[in-house]
Amino acid sequence: MSGSPKRQSGPTAGTRGRADVRAGAMATASASAPVTCVTLLSACERLGASRDGVAPRGPRVPRRHSKPDSSSSDVVGRHRRRARSHASVASIDRAPGDPEPRKIAVIGAGFAGVAAAYHILLRCAEGLDDPPAIATADASASPSSSRRPVEVHLFDEKGIAGGASGVAAGLLHPYTPRGKIIWKGVDGVAATLALVAAAEDAERRLDSGAATLEDDEATTTTSTAERRRGEAIAWRKGTVRPARNLKQARDLARFAPASATAGGEGVAIDCNRLRAILPGVDVPEDVANPIAFIEKEMEEMSKLNSASERRRAAERSASPAAAALHIPEGVVLDSNRYLSALWNATRLLAASDATPAGCVARLHVGESIGSLRDERVRGYDAVVVACGGAAGSIAELSSAGTLPTTLQGGHVVELVPAAERDSPWDESSPGILGAPYVAPLSARRLLVGTTKEFGATVEDARRAGPVDPGADSAAETAAAELVAKASATYPPIEAMDVDIVRYGVRANPPRTPAGSLPLVGRIDGGGDGDGAGSRWWFVGGLGARGLVYHAMLGAHIAEAVARGDPDVIPEELRFDPKVVDESIVGSAGVDSGA
Ligand SMILES: Cc1cc2nc3c(=O)[nH]c(=O)nc-3n(C[C@H](O)[C@H](O)[C@H](O)COP(=O)(O)OP(=O)(O)OC[C@H]3O[C@@H](n4cnc5c(N)ncnc54)[C@H](O)[C@@H]3O)c2cc1C
Repeated sequence: MSGSPKRQSGPTAGTRGRADVRAGAMATASASAPVTCVTLLSACERLGASRDGVAPRGPRVPRRHSKPDSSSSDVVGRHRRRARSHASVASIDRAPGDPEPRKIAVIGAGFAGVAAAYHILLRCAEGLDDPPAIATADASASPSSSRRPVEVHLFDEKGIAGGASGVAAGLLHPYTPRGKIIWKGVDGVAATLALVAAAEDAERRLDSGAATLEDDEATTTTSTAERRRGEAIAWRKGTVRPARNLKQARDLARFAPASATAGGEGVAIDCNRLRAILPGVDVPEDVANPIAFIEKEMEEMSKLNSASERRRAAERSASPAAAALHIPEGVVLDSNRYLSALWNATRLLAASDATPAGCVARLHVGESIGSLRDERVRGYDAVVVACGGAAGSIAELSSAGTLPTTLQGGHVVELVPAAERDSPWDESSPGILGAPYVAPLSARRLLVGTTKEFGATVEDARRAGPVDPGADSAAETAAAELVAKASATYPPIEAMDVDIVRYGVRANPPRTPAGSLPLVGRIDGGGDGDGAGSRWWFVGGLGARGLVYHAMLGAHIAEAVARGDPDVIPEELRFDPKVVDESIVGSAGVDSGA
């Protein structure tokens, strides 16, 4: 069997069209409006919450007369029998004649896996076997009793955010360093903001007691989410990308208007404005005083021989420069807290009246899945691999050449004020984009990243998480490098202390003419011989853009799984890993039965 990975050729026009309707619905949301994605917003509303706080809930309508009535709060799981740990789990409160649940396993509880789980439930709320909802559809329009429930089992060897997602800084923006918009960047940010709203809503409801959840398995490995390390899931003070040299300053000025036309929220700002919104920022000399540098450029120009070269250089020199790109609506997420809350939102959705009775969202922590034929994920109607940089730990994906991703390690540091010192970070300052970036999780906790370390391995990816710089010289060097570089942009940082150093691995996808795009598709080899196609799915290659793309990818994979049709995935993303060597499965020591 050939092992060459490929992006598939184009889908049928019909299926593409339907997928695009949903993407289009997401595109209607803007970065300035926390939630405008109609489908996702309606899910929040179906959960009985508003954007501004806990919505007054009407009386909860029992979805099955056979179920015990719930009290004034939603007790998720109390009236539902806890699912056992694998696919043989029977559905919870099904009455005779109720539709069989569709059982879906998701391996990997990072951005990709949790977003997939949430969207699978959301898709179920809309009718898993029905055509996709149009943008304005309201799930309540179709009676939940006629819809097929879904059981989503999320497996992770460490816990929620146990991989790169727990390391990532949460600077959410759709821009390249030059100020251009990345592929579907505006849609991606809008889709992420809709999930952030769902996560915040779940947290508000749980905090206020409007809903309660039965204990799930330990949700994170680091427990940082429990310690609520920031003060909020999302820090909404805007973001800014200061130009680090005159060339970048010109690019930002040049591309900002076109990006704004494409839906970007960023505006090019001058030096005074930059210093006003980010007091203490260092502005490089050529950006602060371009005239002096233009004179130097003119001198260089006169040495050019060809007239066309001189003309181009003169045009470049005369082009306007911006000290920074400012995104007033930019958001910084605490990714650990966000993912834990999004998983809770998924559980609440499974138990809500918006989804049919019998829906389950269950986390299985400490479950390292070595093969898609492993008995723990056998018997599912679909298995979604969302293992990030560790996807190669799945035997069927482990052969060289099966996955076209390149693994790149990186460190980040969390800085806190030095002992008995006030924080040098102004409460109202925006997050700083760049290399390195500074993501304020609160006024007293800054996340600074990231280093780029090539040649990482699957095993490196599996050891993602906090590292001890005292015992790990790479971590020590990385921390020193990050603090030094971040201090060059924002000198007050130098006075802060390193609290935590983390390491993670990105799975970078190959470059395409449209940019580095994530990979979504059906994995070859998981068919039952019934002509229905393989039950195995893949979502990965989120690279350095996990935050922007994961929500959109979650919607795409949920749609593809619901329809059993990879053609609903946009052509640019589509990728079908080929299972190359069946003997690998045997050598992994797992049951290779059908
Ligand atoms: C240092 C660093 C900084 C970054 N900063 C940013 C940033 O600022 N913004 C941004 O958008 N992106 C950033 N990224 C990229 C971002 O982190 C990734 O794109 C994203 O986290 C990938 O998400 P994922 O769900 O695909 O993978 P992961 O988050 O790695 O999740 C995979 C999960 O699968 C589990 N798993 C793996 N193998 C198995 C198995 N065999 N069985 C069971 N479970 C398994 C893991 O435990 C893990 O929880 C950064 C990455 C790094 C490394």
